[in-house]
Amino acid sequence: MNVATTLTGCDAPKTDTATRTVLRERGQREVFCGLTGIIWLHRKMQDAFFLVVGSRTCAHLLQSAAGVMIFAEPRFATAIMEERDLAGMVDAQDELDRVVQRLLDRRPDIKTLFLVGSCPSEVIKLDLAKAAERLGVQHMPKVRILNYSGSGIETTFTQGEDACLAALVPEMPAQDANAPKQLLMVGALPDIVEDQFLRLFSQLGIENVGILPARNARDLPAVGSNTRYILAQPFLSDTAMALEDRGATRIDALFPFGVEGTSDWLRAIGREFGVDTTQVEAVIAPGRERAKRAIEHSRAALEGKRISFLPDSQLEVPLARFLHTELGMEPIEVGTPYLHRSHCAGDLALLPEITRISEGQHVDNQLDRVRQDKPDLTVCGLGLANPLEAEGLTTKWAIELVFSPIHGFDQAGDLAELFARPMRRRDRLEV
Ligand code: SF4
Repeated sequence: MNVATTLTGCDAPKTDTATRTVLRERGQREVFCGLTGIIWLHRKMQDAFFLVVGSRTCAHLLQSAAGVMIFAEPRFATAIMEERDLAGMVDAQDELDRVVQRLLDRRPDIKTLFLVGSCPSEVIKLDLAKAAERLGVQHMPKVRILNYSGSGIETTFTQGEDACLAALVPEMPAQDANAPKQLLMVGALPDIVEDQFLRLFSQLGIENVGILPARNARDLPAVGSNTRYILAQPFLSDTAMALEDRGATRIDALFPFGVEGTSDWLRAIGREFGVDTTQVEAVIAPGRERAKRAIEHSRAALEGKRISFLPDSQLEVPLARFLHTELGMEPIEVGTPYLHRSHCAGDLALLPEITRISEGQHVDNQLDRVRQDKPDLTVCGLGLANPLEAEGLTTKWAIELVFSPIHGFDQAGDLAELFARPMRRRDRLEV
């Protein structure tokens, strides 16, 4: 095992990301589609409704991912396209108008309706942008109607959130040119984590804070040249581009995972808003200490162990950085569906030079490499975990990392534990 000591974000050796070789792969993928994002987005935006225009497969995906919600008034549904729609025998736009009207009549609580495209709606070239525009004219100002694609042809699963947030950006009000500098935190986080960050911003003396997505989709923050945005998630490249088109500037930092990621993220915000370094350090010190103590519990299970990530959520690079610099794991391969070099530059630079970085997926090639590398832990999608376990490899379901609160100081221990648990299980089975 090469990595025996723990390196912090500050003193770890940095790799030159500009020259770093990335293995690019194109082939069969094993990743959920962008519809999956609806599961966490509908919980986040309390007044929004997601209407997938898709097939029974899409409906089943959502139901099984969300669990069956018999007693709740759901905030997502699938308008199932039948054979007649697919064969072009009926006007799908008319059908859609009827479905939307029925839905809005029944559910006056809906303030923002997302029409979400899927593979079938894309294949028959159903123009949901046109539908959203037409229906918007009818239903505004009561209901805002937007569209984005969650289709598996175009998106992997976290890209659904990116597409959804990017659709919201043009709706954000323009910031007044003389408005004070505003911090915009971008990315859907569980409310409890969002509240922790808001408390820390307030302790730093930053009160003018906007959140995208807001808990109520109608409360969109303003955006303009006095907006400094910080990404909480590494998979929001289209949203970032849309915000920059509106004049906002990105604050560059590590992603807020673990002690060092969260510290760097908060320090970068503090610098941007001219907060005195002593104050920043005083504000983050208690959280840092708690997080350091919390991750120690998992160190014995993880330190010196080799890990491979198969491409899944786009969280791979920052999570590998956390496991390497804070818990001494050795990342063998870090695969990600898309690599945004500048957004992930800080995390990427802290991965060892020998770590193989791959972008895109050719599942057979990647599985061959995993078999050859024999990592102690492989992070992969649900469909690959069981076969790999049967071959004697220890796995971690990547999707759990998306559905669990893992950002910030107070979640650092749980994040480390998510990786430590399968390692301990393996050790117990081996005894
Ligand atoms: S959008 Fe495509 S990949 Fe996703 S569930 Fe529907 S058919 Fe399957």
